[in-house]
Amino acid sequence: MKYWNKTLTDMEEYISGEQPAGGFIKLNTTENPFPPSKSALDAIAKRTSEALRVYPDAKSLELRKIFAEANGLSVENVFAGNGSDEIFTLIFRGFIEKNGLAAFPYPSYSLYYTLAQGNGIKYDRVQLEDDFSYNMDKFLEKKYSLVIISNPNNPTGTYCPVEKIARFCEAFDGLLVVDEAYIDFYGGSSIELVNKYSNIIITRTMSKSYSLAGLRVGFAGADAEIIRGLMKIKDSYNVDTLAQAGAAAALLDTKTFNSNTEYGIRSNKEYLEERLTGMDFFIVPSRANFIFVKHNSVAAESIYLKLKEKKILVRHFKGERQSEYIRITIGSMGDIKALCKELEAIISE
Ligand code: PMP
Repeated sequence: MKYWNKTLTDMEEYISGEQPAGGFIKLNTTENPFPPSKSALDAIAKRTSEALRVYPDAKSLELRKIFAEANGLSVENVFAGNGSDEIFTLIFRGFIEKNGLAAFPYPSYSLYYTLAQGNGIKYDRVQLEDDFSYNMDKFLEKKYSLVIISNPNNPTGTYCPVEKIARFCEAFDGLLVVDEAYIDFYGGSSIELVNKYSNIIITRTMSKSYSLAGLRVGFAGADAEIIRGLMKIKDSYNVDTLAQAGAAAALLDTKTFNSNTEYGIRSNKEYLEERLTGMDFFIVPSRANFIFVKHNSVAAESIYLKLKEKKILVRHFKGERQSEYIRITIGSMGDIKALCKELEAIISE
């Protein structure tokens, strides 16, 4: 394309999960099957009024205060973004020099690679261990200026404990971003490290555990100077009025949060794992709202395609190691039972 620059021409496109028009059971994009907090919806409805005539609070102050308080931080240690994806974009724009080298795990959230390419940043894909666990020492083998890990990791669900991340922060010269998009389902956040180390950014999102993927709200917790940098480089009104109001109310509604995560997703996941084990699936131990699984005899891609014919979507990624697996998002009990019924038929064919 004549008007594209070289970086845009050369970069690979980020491929989002399929979002078909309707009629599908969607277990492909790690969304939460339970509805968002009623008080969040009420707060959004209340602001859907004449209040939209004026700009939102450019600093999202109220929302940041609520997140800070819930996470043992001060407001100057918290940034609010248009989803956590915006925060990664800002990090690439403002926190690494063009000649810097970044590193991300593989397999992991491919947006990291896309953003590095889109910003002309060179990067290494650091292989996870054979069982998909993290060996953080591998990220110390070269002089990286930026490391992003997903914890728990998407698509494997594997988790790196806080002590290992703390040790890494001490040994590491660059900036570490810990993407905690899925941390709420089983806990174990590293956010306390923000008060201890100035080279760590923790990102969080309202998209998964709060069932608000459509609202586009994410957070970063970090040293005050990092937050000041993010504030300086962000779009002026990056979180809109409705998103600020809805996210604030959702954060305060701990009852809905607990029932959607602990009692909803966790118990449904246990049930699904039991059924899949009975069908001869191998399941990578996951601390997220999805599982990465492969069958002992039927190929992953064939399972994905056959399920799709039956109007059930799971995620199958191309690429080494991960193409042997499918990633299944934990859905409602009805979705899981429908999935298991089809899987049993596919396996027994
Ligand atoms: N991080 C990871 C690891 C994800 O899988 C996703 C969802 N695709 C995101 C971040 C995006 O989160 P958000 O909706 O807040 O932009």
